[in-house]
Amino acid sequence: NLALRAAKSAGAGQWRRYEPSMTDRTRQSELRAALGRAVGEDTLFLEYQPIVALGTGRTVGFEALLRWQHPAHGRLLPGEFIDLAEESGLIVPIGEWVLASAMRAACRWSAGARARAPYVSVNVSAQQFRSDDFVDTVTRLLAETGLPAQRIVLEITESQLLRDDDKVWHALELLRARGARVAIDDFGTGYSALGYLRQIPLDIVKLDRVFVRGLGTSRRQRDLVEGIVTLTRALNLDIVAEGIETEHQRQASAATGCRYGQGYLFSTPLPEAQTLRWLADGRGSPRAAPVTAP
Ligand code: C2E
Ligand code: MG
Ligand code: MG
Ligand code: MG
Repeated sequence: NLALRAAKSAGAGQWRRYEPSMTDRTRQSELRAALGRAVGEDTLFLEYQPIVALGTGRTVGFEALLRWQHPAHGRLLPGEFIDLAEESGLIVPIGEWVLASAMRAACRWSAGARARAPYVSVNVSAQQFRSDDFVDTVTRLLAETGLPAQRIVLEITESQLLRDDDKVWHALELLRARGARVAIDDFGTGYSALGYLRQIPLDIVKLDRVFVRGLGTSRRQRDLVEGIVTLTRALNLDIVAEGIETEHQRQASAATGCRYGQGYLFSTPLPEAQTLRWLADGRGSPRAAPVTAP
């Protein structure tokens, strides 16, 4: 960073505090202001990535992923604005919009689904779980949309769960009692001991894609994943392998005992209209066509 280098080169006795440059700060505050307007201006939208049973190829659910059509910068991925949403607290209203939109989409999937309708998996920030009315908000949205609670999964990342407190855990327990499921996202990246899985109020483990990448290359990685799978079985948890990009990775994930997977091999995240076509093509039915690499 230029500002940091400038501060360092100012020399002994002349230390200045590091500050982001004016242009950085201006850009950030502009982005923040625009993000604050995004819900009202209807420039946020969701894409949905299929979650697939590795044995049959059947789509069992979709993960909702947030995108922002910025008026000047074009289409932005969450990596470019989620941190800002977290820092500014905007993640709470934005997250509520995400939940409502994802639930409405899931209701439309029931019409197209020939077999059991797919669930929707929504990323939820610890800040949302911590806010006083989160459980009530989810309960109200379920009632308003008519989506059965069994068809929603709430994802929280391992790192956010680690940092967090009784309040988050209590919300997870209440939501599960109402029939919603909870997934731990990016599992394996947060430095938690495996035994920790036993304590969390949880239904699904989403194994981070670094493990999937390592499966083909390292014996130790394979042993580690097998260990995680054995433990999740014992705890009666489902496991979803993230970031499956190749047929080899699909087979390796299935061979270690992962029942479900998600990744570019099956599909990139899709606009809602394409999810309806995906289901109409029979991908949601128990005898879905076998997966073929693109
Ligand atoms: P995540 O929840 O782990 O979501 C999976 C990310 O991996 C998505 O990136 C997805 O597009 C990408 N991905 C899927 N398959 C593959 C693959 O085969 N290979 C590779 N390399 N990547 C794959 P995306 O959409 O950019 O989202 C990034 C992160 O932003 C998400 O990671 C999630 O943590 C966060 N996020 C997305 N939407 C929301 C939201 O509505 N609320 C909150 N709080 N966070 C969100
Ligand atoms: Mg996720
Ligand atoms: Mg993930
Ligand atoms: Mg991830």
